[in-house]
Amino acid sequence: MRRVSIFGATGSIGQNTIDLIAREPEAYDVVALTGGQNIAQLAQDAIRLRADLAVTADETRLDELRQALAGSDVEAAAGREALLEAADRPAEWVMSAIVGAAGLEPGLRALQRGATLALANKESMVCAGQLMLRTAQAHGGRLLPVDSEHSAVFQALIGEDLDAVERVIITASGGAFRDWPIEDLPKATPAQAATHPNWDMGQRITIDSASMFNKALELIETKEFFGLSADKIETVVHPESMIHALVGFNDGALMAHVGPPDMRHAIGFALHHPERKPLPVERLDLVKLGQMTFRPACEIRWPALRLAREVMEAGGLCGAAFNAAKEVALDGFIDGAISFTRMTEVVEEVLSRVSPRLRHIDDDFGLDMVVEADHLARVEAGNIIAGRT
Ligand code: NAD
Ligand code: MG
Repeated sequence: MRRVSIFGATGSIGQNTIDLIAREPEAYDVVALTGGQNIAQLAQDAIRLRADLAVTADETRLDELRQALAGSDVEAAAGREALLEAADRPAEWVMSAIVGAAGLEPGLRALQRGATLALANKESMVCAGQLMLRTAQAHGGRLLPVDSEHSAVFQALIGEDLDAVERVIITASGGAFRDWPIEDLPKATPAQAATHPNWDMGQRITIDSASMFNKALELIETKEFFGLSADKIETVVHPESMIHALVGFNDGALMAHVGPPDMRHAIGFALHHPERKPLPVERLDLVKLGQMTFRPACEIRWPALRLAREVMEAGGLCGAAFNAAKEVALDGFIDGAISFTRMTEVVEEVLSRVSPRLRHIDDDFGLDMVVEADHLARVEAGNIIAGRT
């Protein structure tokens, strides 16, 4: 039996991971499940999967979790430290599906004991890509991408020489507002932004899809994960979300990964890697689909894409600042403090203030420096949103 843990088990990726694991109970020994506010879901899954441990990130809700687990053998724990300790428990395969920079440290801890880390938490690569890769290498850990685009690139690269790669094309659905007139975007509400045309995902990533901050993070993730320079990474809007990414080689060949949007494909690929095993995902009927369309990824409509390019070129710890500023701006939008289009303005302003200090930092940075860059950007973003200078 393979020992597995799931971080962010109660979220969209976490639940899809549980769906796959629960289909083969004899194959997996579930070590730890972690969640946030959804105590009932966390407890229910921990009992059903016979997990050793269930952890809520909210330390004020330990009693509630204990009550929900009463009568079972599942151990309960709560708080940030408990989350990190859960990462130290010996699971060979760990799903990293906490949302935001909060997912970085638990993933690092799992890599430090040589685990295979299935990485849905793209923020880890954006904030600390070099640290993640270095940690995996130093401890014999393995990083597998779960973001659908990066799983697609990873699969297209199997058996290929990275030197022969001319370009990587990351597709974008365009999110909730791809057909809106640009002048209406400042009026967009959080509820409107939180509906995705093709994918069923958590609230934060869905809003990030509408603003293209999600794609911006993914471009940076591509650079970090595959060690490609920014000029080799392109974006195209593909409203049907059937092609997840394409890799272009020096002989002109383009290898595409194609399939209906279902995260269980990328999760299952990472779960079974290096083998391929049957997955309960819909098979694509090309004739029924009829056609696939593509549009340019306009940086005027989606300025987050331009910022991503600037962050990739700046390097250092600018990715950590970019992500942190984006998280604060997103909170500001969800809370009604700023408009939809103001989010990118806030992030751009934060970058202009902090990147002179962060861009020259060498790749051998440690976690403390990432935390510091993240904090710096959060303070600046908070000041900008509050109108303080
Ligand atoms: P979600 O909001 O549905 O779930 C997030 C999970 O993280 C929940 O279990 C929540 O309780 C937990 N969590 C939230 N804040 C936390 C904190 N501070 N500390 C500890 N745990 C916390 O999010 P999701 O859509 O499942 O996305 C998870 C990650 O996967 C994100 O990084 C996202 O970008 C990435 N991702 C998601 C999808 C998707 O289809 N949903 C696709 C690609 C990548
Ligand atoms: Mg993605």
